[in-house]
Amino acid sequence: MKGKVYVVGIGPGDARMMTKEAEEILGLCDTIVGYKTYIDLVRDRYPDKEIIENGMRSEIERCQICVREALSGKKVALICSGDAGIYGMASPLLEEAEKDGFVDVTIVPGVTAALSGAAVLGAPLGHDVCMISLSDILTPFALIEKRLLCAAEGDFCIVLYNPASTKRADYLRRACDILLTRLSPETVCGYVRKIGREGTEKKICTLKELREEKVDMLTTVFIGNTATRAIGGRMVTPRGYHR
Ligand code: SAH
Repeated sequence: MKGKVYVVGIGPGDARMMTKEAEEILGLCDTIVGYKTYIDLVRDRYPDKEIIENGMRSEIERCQICVREALSGKKVALICSGDAGIYGMASPLLEEAEKDGFVDVTIVPGVTAALSGAAVLGAPLGHDVCMISLSDILTPFALIEKRLLCAAEGDFCIVLYNPASTKRADYLRRACDILLTRLSPETVCGYVRKIGREGTEKKICTLKELREEKVDMLTTVFIGNTATRAIGGRMVTPRGYHR
């Protein structure tokens, strides 16, 4: 008997921001696997499910657990915050599953922080956008720097994921300094903390001011393009209808 693995994006936190499909999959699976913080977001809603939680930095082990459980015949949901394919578990799971010749994997999309955070700020992503993670755990910082510079050169709106952590406390400042070599200090920026969770915070500021802000890993940062404006307390990137 062969089981199945679903890799499920559960959105930013608020149950209403999870898709109907994700809700359905969690309802039908036998086992929910995930990082503790994400498990805590859904645990109460699925009291009859077997739960397997493990820590950060154990991502590969988490994938192996899913494949093992599925091979024993279970329907397994591997949950991620936001979307499972964006800095999530969909790609490592597919890589690990392939090693075991296991193919019964379905990816279930979710609302990523770029989208849920954008809605909190207004409409900062009204035009072309790059998403860049500032985490250099898996990516050399030189490559992150190159991507920041290229995004700035291309006048993209930029969404920064993983803008800081305890060990990387000054990374947002580093990123701003890199961007300031190409962008105006007055570029309209914003950030949102704890999207879809209790105590959501947001701020709209300039790139120069953003450099001084203290953010943490529960924050998503938005850098506008040259046309982005602050309108009535909202961050707005025009589509270009008035040009
Ligand atoms: N798969 C997730 C991203 C995981 S990377 C998604 O699609 O949203 C982790 C980073 O995502 C965090 O450091 C933060 O930048 C962002 N993030 C995820 N959830 C968030 C939330 N509820 N509020 C603010 N930022 C969030």
